[in-house]
Amino acid sequence: MAQVLFLGGFGRSGTTLVERLLGELPGMCALGEVVHLWQRDIRDDERCGCGARFSGCRFWRQVGDRAFNGWSNVDVDRVHRLRDAVERTRHIPRLASATGATHEVREYASYFAQVYTAAAEVSGARVVIDSSKHSALAHVLRWADDVDLRVVHVVRDARGVAYSWTKTVSRPETDGVDEMTRYSPGRSAMLWNAHNAAFGLLARRGVPVRRIRYEEFLADPRAALTGLADFAGLPLTPDDLDFLRAGHADLRPGHSAAGNPMRFTVGRLALRRDDAWVRAFPRSQRRLVGAVCGPLLRAYGYPITIASEA
Ligand SMILES: [Zn+2]
Repeated sequence: MAQVLFLGGFGRSGTTLVERLLGELPGMCALGEVVHLWQRDIRDDERCGCGARFSGCRFWRQVGDRAFNGWSNVDVDRVHRLRDAVERTRHIPRLASATGATHEVREYASYFAQVYTAAAEVSGARVVIDSSKHSALAHVLRWADDVDLRVVHVVRDARGVAYSWTKTVSRPETDGVDEMTRYSPGRSAMLWNAHNAAFGLLARRGVPVRRIRYEEFLADPRAALTGLADFAGLPLTPDDLDFLRAGHADLRPGHSAAGNPMRFTVGRLALRRDDAWVRAFPRSQRRLVGAVCGPLLRAYGYPITIASEA
C-alpha cells in the first residue's frame, strides 16, 4: 500500500514551497502536482523538475514502466473523462457521502494509486508527496484501495492569496508561451472559502488532515517540518534538517512532474514570507476579500484588520 502525503489547499497558498522542503527529508519523494501529469507530461511532454522533458527523465520513465508497462499504455482521454465525471468541486458532497465510491471514482483513483506505488518503488521512498492541491481529488483519493492517505492542508491569508491571483506569472515549462491563470479578488475569495472548507469536511470523514498556516511555516520551518515528518510517520533526526540555513534552504534537483515554477529551483531558495499584498493590494479589494472570507479567516486565527489599516 502506497503511503501518500497529499498537499492540499487553494492555489498560491505555498504548497510548492512546503513540497520542496518536504522533498529534502529522508524517506520522502516529492512528485509535484500529479493531477496535471496526464495532460502536461504524458501528452504534452512538458519539463520535469530536473529540467529534462518528461519523456527524457529517467525517473519518470521507470515509474511509467512499472505502473503501466510504459506511459503509452495510459488512455489519457479515459483519465480526462473520469476526471470530468468525478473530480469537480460540485461533486464533493457526493464524494463525502457514504455512497461516494462509485465505479468511476475507484477507477480514477486507481490511476493515481498506480503512480504512487511505482514512484515509491523506483525512488525507494517510504512516503510519496502529491501536491495536487485540489480538494475534490483528495476526496476521490479517500476511496482509493491501495493508498494510505494523509493530507497536509496548507492555508494562507486569503488576502495574500487573492493578491497573488491578480498577478501575471509565466510558465517556464512551456518556454514562456503560456501564462498561469488569473482570478479577480472576488472569485479568489469564493474559491478560497470553498477549497478550504472542503478540507475541513475531509477531516470530518476520518481522513488524517494536518492544517498548517503558510505564515507560521515560514516563521519556523524547522519546527514545522519536524511536525509534518511526525505526521507522515517518518520522525526526523537533527541532521535531517541540515539543508535549512538562516533565511534559506539548499535544494537538490527533484522530479516534480508539474506545478508552480518554484519546482525548478535548485540550490538556494529564500525562505521569506511573501507579504507584498499588505502594501500593494488595493484597500477596497482587501476589504472585499476579508469580508467574504471572514468566518474562515477567523477560524484559522488570522486577524481581520491588518496593521496598515489600524
Ligand atoms: Zn525528472
